[in-house]
Amino acid sequence: MLRAPVPYLTDTPMAKLFFRYAAMNSGKSTQLLQIANNYESMDKKVALYTSAIDDRYGVGMITSRLNIQRESNTFDAGFDFLAHDYGDTACVLIDEAQFMTPEQAQQLHRLAHSRNIPVICFGLRTDFQGHPFPGSAWLLSLADDVEEIKTICHCGRKATMHIRIDGAGKRVKEGPQVEIGGEARYRAVCGRCFHKD
Ligand SMILES: [Zn+2]
Repeated sequence: MLRAPVPYLTDTPMAKLFFRYAAMNSGKSTQLLQIANNYESMDKKVALYTSAIDDRYGVGMITSRLNIQRESNTFDAGFDFLAHDYGDTACVLIDEAQFMTPEQAQQLHRLAHSRNIPVICFGLRTDFQGHPFPGSAWLLSLADDVEEIKTICHCGRKATMHIRIDGAGKRVKEGPQVEIGGEARYRAVCGRCFHKD
């Protein structure tokens, strides 16, 4: 599950914008916290951000499925990533990156390339209806390095989508794009299961 994030740790002269995308329940936050840990074990500083929208585990917390939890900075739609002084920060790590605006994706691209700080974003590619999140669409377009975090559908195929389910386990097909009710409300599925009624 956890790939050693060695490529991020090399002292490359040119920083990049990374986007790691997946469906729900893929262990994204676990990977993010692992990378943070790897940097810190080398006495390097990281800046953590998560969406202020996501209050599943409390605002400003990044929580992995393995129940590791860390405090984090938050961004909302009005937040400007370029207005912050990152000092000697070695890497900026962003969870729930699907909730960022197109402008914020552009800011992070600039941050990586004009200030030479690697930025690693983790997020969902699409919502429960299969529509792209604007932030993710922009990250897919701008990121220098894009990688899918793989998850398995219950049928055994690779999960690339996710569906929303109600309290009784019944699929919900309509509703707002953003409705955070805990990961139990979502299930990662393959394309075939996504289109099955
Ligand atoms: Zn399936």
